[in-house]
Amino acid sequence: MSKGLIGIDLGGTTTKMAFLNEDGEVLEKWRILTDISDNGSHIVPNIIKSISKHIEDSGKTTDDFIGIGMGTPGAVNRENGTVSEAFNLNWKTTQPIRKDIQAGLGLPFDLDNDANVASLGEYWKGAGSTEDDVVFVTLGTGVGGGVIANGKLLHGVNGGAGEIGHITVQPNGYLCTCGKRGCLETVASATGIVRVADDMAKEFNGTSRLKELIDDGDEKITSKLVFYLADNGDILANQVVDRICFYLGLALSMIGNTLNPASIIIGGGVSNAGNTLLQPTTKYFQQNAFPSVRDSTKIKLAKLGNDAGVIGAASMALQFR
Ligand SMILES: [Zn+2]
Repeated sequence: MSKGLIGIDLGGTTTKMAFLNEDGEVLEKWRILTDISDNGSHIVPNIIKSISKHIEDSGKTTDDFIGIGMGTPGAVNRENGTVSEAFNLNWKTTQPIRKDIQAGLGLPFDLDNDANVASLGEYWKGAGSTEDDVVFVTLGTGVGGGVIANGKLLHGVNGGAGEIGHITVQPNGYLCTCGKRGCLETVASATGIVRVADDMAKEFNGTSRLKELIDDGDEKITSKLVFYLADNGDILANQVVDRICFYLGLALSMIGNTLNPASIIIGGGVSNAGNTLLQPTTKYFQQNAFPSVRDSTKIKLAKLGNDAGVIGAASMALQFR
C-alpha cells in the first residue's frame, strides 16, 4: 500500500492539517484553533497532539506516512528548520520547529513560508498543474507570492524571492509594514483596498453607495463590499476596483516581463471577486507586458482555495520518499 503525506498550514487564527496520498488527493482534513497565548508556546505541541490523535483514530501508525510539510507565517530558515519574526503567532524568538515536530512525531519534516507553500499547492494540483513555469500571487490580509521556474520553487540568496507584495507600484505611496513605501500590498491586500476606497471617497463628488457608507462610518467597509458594490454598478466602487487592478496588472507585467511564466495565478480571499478582479487586471497586465510575454503568459484565478496550503505543504514531504 502506498504511504501518505501530512500537510500543515499554520495561520494566525487556525491551523489546517490534512492527510494526502502520493497523488495529492486529500484523504482527510481538519483544522484547530491556533492558540497564540503564552508567547505561542502551545502552537507546536497542539499540532503534534492533533496529528498523533488523527493518525491513531484512522487506525494508522507513523510508518504509514512518508513525512510532513508545513507552511508558516514569518521568516523561514529552511536549512536550520526554524521560524522567526512570526509576530501574528506571538513568537518573539526563533522557533526550532523542525526539531520539535520531528521529535514529537518521528517523521521527516520540511517547512517553507505560507505563500511559497500555497504556490506549490497550485503548481501541483491546482491552476498551474500542467506547467513548469508558474507564478502565484495571493491577495489576502497581506500580499504574498511564489515563483516556480523550471519546476523548482525559487528562494533567492536570502529567502526573499517571490515577495511580490513588496514590488513598488506607487513610488512614495502608502507606508508598508516592510518599512518602504508604495508596495503592492499597501493597495491590493484586503486592507489596502479599503484604504484606497477611503482616499478615493474623499475626492469623489458623485452619487455612490460606497461613498455614503464610508461617510456615515457606521458599517465596516471590506474589500468584499467594494467588489460587491462594483458588481452592482456603483461608480466609485468601480473606480476603486479599476485603480487596484491597474496596480496589480502593472506589478504582474513586471513579473511577466522578467520570467515569462506560462501562468500567473491569483489566489487568496480577495480573488473570490472572480472576473470583476481578473478582467481589468488582465487588461492592465497586457497593456504593460512586452509583446511576446503578453501573447503567452496567462493570468488565471487559483483553483484550490483554502486547501492550497495543506496540499502544497504535503507536496514538500514527497522529497522523503
Ligand atoms: Zn512592503
